[in-house]
Amino acid sequence: MLQLPISIFWFRRDLRLHDNAALYHSLKAGLPVLPIFIFDTEILNKLENKSDARVQFIHQTLANIDRELQAYHSSLLLMHGSVIDILNTILTKFNVKKVYANHDYEPSAIARDEQVNIFLQSKNIEFHTFKDQVIFEKNEILSDTGNPYKVYTPYKNKWLQKVNDFYLKSYPVEKYVANFYQSTPFALPTLAAIGFRPSHIQIPSTRINENLLKEYDLRRDYPEQAATSLLGIHLRFGTLSVRQMASKAQAINATWLSEFIWREFFMQLLFHFPYVQKEPFNRKFLKLGWRYDEKDFEKWCNGNTGYPLVDAGMRELNATGHMHNRVRMVVASFLTKHLLIDWTWGEAYFAQRLLDYDLAANNGNWQWSAGTGADAQPFFRIFNPTLQQERFDPHFKYIKKWVPEYGTFNYVAPMIDHKFATDRAKQAFKNIQD
Ligand SMILES: Cc1cc2nc3c(=O)[nH]c(=O)nc-3n(C[C@H](O)[C@H](O)[C@H](O)COP(=O)(O)OP(=O)(O)OC[C@H]3O[C@@H](n4cnc5c(N)ncnc54)[C@H](O)[C@@H]3O)c2cc1C
Repeated sequence: MLQLPISIFWFRRDLRLHDNAALYHSLKAGLPVLPIFIFDTEILNKLENKSDARVQFIHQTLANIDRELQAYHSSLLLMHGSVIDILNTILTKFNVKKVYANHDYEPSAIARDEQVNIFLQSKNIEFHTFKDQVIFEKNEILSDTGNPYKVYTPYKNKWLQKVNDFYLKSYPVEKYVANFYQSTPFALPTLAAIGFRPSHIQIPSTRINENLLKEYDLRRDYPEQAATSLLGIHLRFGTLSVRQMASKAQAINATWLSEFIWREFFMQLLFHFPYVQKEPFNRKFLKLGWRYDEKDFEKWCNGNTGYPLVDAGMRELNATGHMHNRVRMVVASFLTKHLLIDWTWGEAYFAQRLLDYDLAANNGNWQWSAGTGADAQPFFRIFNPTLQQERFDPHFKYIKKWVPEYGTFNYVAPMIDHKFATDRAKQAFKNIQD
């Protein structure tokens, strides 16, 4: 046992050394700080695709962080296993007094952190956690009657009323880098050692085109213009600071800022109503007679529905790990209403494929699209995929990019008639009203 008392900073979905709340507090507190990351087998074992681009992205990001730490004569301790086992192993090698981490609001992460807390308490180690991945968390935005908001617009108004420089201020980690635990470099396990292979999918950069984003409100709905930030994956894994990005959004474009507020709206919904992870927010939809048709689902997954905007979106997702938001809404509506397939199937497919997959945002948006959610699109409002194409891809530019055979004899016929499908969906919805 090395006797030097130290703190641990545990990276989770905050993979950066700058403007990081818990990292800042750990370094400022004075004990040498050993940064760690755990490749949690509970999470990794559930990933079917062993060349998952997100795992490679995390691995690469951690290697970069380790290089940065070496400039401060420190290093990242990167471990692979189950969390309690790993923490136990670390405690046999280091004299740990405190563990620091940032909050995570997903039900499984909350349960894990409760277990970790009990374990650390049993060893007389303090566990300090902080808000980092959102501007407002937990009960910070409540209605005047003290309840969590279930409707976006009043939530957004409260959020905008409350936000100020205090909440957007960066944590100056750089002031305390001398307090990192001094060590020669630890060996980083390779991607192969944790059971994964490289992916060919490109990760969008952290750079944003501010001129384009100034026109976000005018351009965001047209997939072919690619006028959104593509920051989703960086906000998901914390490779960018949400405080710095929300400050930029505040300065650049109010509609863009409102997307950050949607993100927090869904995070607080999941936090306050964790049952939404498994069930419809609006429980009356438990009775809806969903279809569980695997063949239809497969056509949707592969982008072979015969509705070109739906097919373009699904093929973009399959090829790049991204899909434009307008098109996500169209494909989700098509699956849940035209095909009447349970939204949880679509949600799970997106979870496997999206680079920016986030439980709260994905679940919230799927439930919005399916009509089962808080403040959702009413079930009987059904996007017409043809009209959506006429409005948002009038010159077929996006469609031609992803469905090159569109307009030739090789393109499949529509798998279902629009009128038949919408009548069927409305009837299914009517049946649960009685
Ligand atoms: C069915 C469906 C599933 C979705 N699944 C996810 C998901 O798993 N993860 C995810 O981050 N977003 C999800 N979204 C929301 C949205 O489509 C993406 O956030 C957006 O397309 C990402 O592109 P961008 O990074 O260029 O975002 P921008 O348009 O530049 O917006 C900036 C950031 O705001 C946040 N944001 C934007 N729109 C939303 C929204 N509607 N809800 C919550 N946050 C938002 C994201 O963090 C995004 O990166 C989903 C939408 C739908 C309709």
